[in-house]
Amino acid sequence: MLHKDPFSSCRLCPRDCRVNRRAGERGVCGETAELRLATASLHFGEEPPLIGEGGSGTIFVTGCSMKCPFCQNHQISRCGAGRVVGKEEFVSICLTLEDAGAENINLVTPSHAAPVLADYLGSAKDSGLGLPVAWNSSGFESLPAVEIAAPMVDIWLPDLKILDSAAAERRYGVPGYPAAAEAAVLFMADLRPLAVDDEGVIKRGLMVRHLVLPGEMESTREVLRWFGEHLAGRAWLSVMTQYTPVRIPGEKGNIPERQLNQREYDTVLEWLDEFSIDDGFVQDLLPGNDWLPDFNRGNPFGSSLSKMIWRWDGGFVLSADPSANPER
Ligand code: SF4
Repeated sequence: MLHKDPFSSCRLCPRDCRVNRRAGERGVCGETAELRLATASLHFGEEPPLIGEGGSGTIFVTGCSMKCPFCQNHQISRCGAGRVVGKEEFVSICLTLEDAGAENINLVTPSHAAPVLADYLGSAKDSGLGLPVAWNSSGFESLPAVEIAAPMVDIWLPDLKILDSAAAERRYGVPGYPAAAEAAVLFMADLRPLAVDDEGVIKRGLMVRHLVLPGEMESTREVLRWFGEHLAGRAWLSVMTQYTPVRIPGEKGNIPERQLNQREYDTVLEWLDEFSIDDGFVQDLLPGNDWLPDFNRGNPFGSSLSKMIWRWDGGFVLSADPSANPER
């Protein structure tokens, strides 16, 4: 049960910090009640049903309550890149993404900001936003926070990282992750049946993402087994094999020091067969680390993967052709 102002004694995620974010206090996620954003772009590096023709309208939210020790977006999730965005500017960002051809609004790491995002998305829809909204989260959710967001969300994109409590404590420092993520994912599955349009672009429903960690294959096997038992046939599974060691400044924990190998990759494919998981995606192996984002670059993902629309340190990114990037 949340307080009627959820920010005043924050329990929006299972960290249960109970700090007064409305008064400027910060819990584990590092954020007050104000929404901070880092970037907005058309992103072409997501799964095909999210990209469609126009790309996914990806908006990175600053802060994160999960704090994975190898987060490739750590400049935003842990190091605070971003700035405060009010309702009017948020609406403008969403509408600009829609005008630029986005297939959806894809909110990355939104959970700690659920109340303010629900409010701002309501205004965006009132202002004419017609795109489906995707909730691209760590899976480390509280059900009341998911309920706050649910009226505004069409596509659920939670991670399902790990399902063993002791392993979750060792790897992520959060023994409560498995219980929270299982409950959240099952709740999301009941909210919206999967729906795609004639071009195969997702309009609503649940796609669960799982990142395979090198040398930790038993964790992956458990996630696949659980998915096959509870969600096969009513959700998609996206198996991500892109793990690359990323050293976060100040982070001392051990992380896997290599990428996935071919033998591990082939094992994942065998397990998908074993657990009768047919609907979804398996990423190709991605050797090297050239593709890792750097949010200090003008375009963090590079121009082949992303077209920037807005940045925290420069506002709207306009081209020489005003009709190509409409200003609002
Ligand atoms: S959202 Fe942030 S402040 Fe609230 S409980 Fe989670 S980590 Fe703590």
